[in-house]
Amino acid sequence: MAILVLAEHMDGRLDEVTHRAITAAHLLGSDVHVLVMACETHADALSQQAGSIDGVTRVWCIAAPHFEAQLTEDIAAQAQALLERGGYRYALMSSSYKGKRVMPYLAGLRNTDLVTDLTKIEGEDTFVRPIYAGGLLVVERLKSAVKLLSIRASAFPPAGAQTQAVSIETLPPLSPSLTARRLERRGKSTSRPKLSRARIVIGCGLGIEKNDMPDIEKLADKLNAAIGVTRAVVEEGIVSGDYLLGQTGKIIAPELYIAIGISGAVQHLAGVKDSKIIVAINKDPQAPIFQIADYGIVGDAHEIVPALIALL
Ligand SMILES: Cc1cc2nc3c(=O)[nH]c(=O)nc-3n(C[C@H](O)[C@H](O)[C@H](O)COP(=O)(O)OP(=O)(O)OC[C@H]3O[C@@H](n4cnc5c(N)ncnc54)[C@H](O)[C@@H]3O)c2cc1C
Repeated sequence: MAILVLAEHMDGRLDEVTHRAITAAHLLGSDVHVLVMACETHADALSQQAGSIDGVTRVWCIAAPHFEAQLTEDIAAQAQALLERGGYRYALMSSSYKGKRVMPYLAGLRNTDLVTDLTKIEGEDTFVRPIYAGGLLVVERLKSAVKLLSIRASAFPPAGAQTQAVSIETLPPLSPSLTARRLERRGKSTSRPKLSRARIVIGCGLGIEKNDMPDIEKLADKLNAAIGVTRAVVEEGIVSGDYLLGQTGKIIAPELYIAIGISGAVQHLAGVKDSKIIVAINKDPQAPIFQIADYGIVGDAHEIVPALIALL
């Protein structure tokens, strides 16, 4: 019985979270299939990318114009159709924003259970996931015949490359959903690395104001870093929720996290505490962020950020 990984991608590039989901899939068995659903422009290239990931034994490629929008309804329905053919014990993807929408929808279509955001696979039906912003770990057991899982990408390393040829098979697309359609795609495209795959992330808290953002962007460009923020910054309207890090935002584990003007609330730390090195810049020496920081600078960010830019 095989394991089905639902590929995640953007603009013709497979997202690194898919490489991490494949690592998790491999812990469950050796026959790992990847399902690529994309528009005709990108489907072939994405299938090739999926086939070149270590441990993948088969790629299903479904190309259709409506997959350009990557709607939850279309992706889940197509995955459900493939699972209905049989032969699968697991279906999984990352618990990214997309995974948080698709996997529960798929569970609804199948009328089955789902384990979300798991960080550890303890056995063929036993999974560990954090709750209360990582304050507790729960062990969940799934009894369903096809187990639906979403994995916390930062808990699994990305799978490497393989050179052996993998069979890429095309499947016919289902008709597009009648209940949903995308009206417009919003969000600024940026040349900076994505938060999910950046090696360095600069986190900004309320110690940073809107007119400080050009300096933060300059620092990020010098370091080839991504920018993330606390919820307080999103609530102030300084940047959109796409940048949010934490319990209700993105969970990251970069090599270096630089927290600027961030107090260190537990809900924020839930998203960044797995970073390999944490540097905190805060004018309050008592700020809780210093308790988990590897390096700390007590001082005013308005002086320290320009000094760092000048140094780099
Ligand atoms: C259910 C729930 C879910 C939540 N989910 C999230 C989440 O996912 N992500 C998240 O981030 N938060 C989340 N929060 C909010 C969280 O509790 C905190 O309120 C938030 O993280 C605080 O953001 P902050 O550190 O930017 O602001 P503050 O706590 O106000 O801290 C600002 C810090 O900046 C420092 N500072 C000020 N000026 C300067 C300066 N000039 N130079 C240097 N330092 C300076 C201050 O000393 C202070 O430590 C959630 C809350 C709840 C209740």
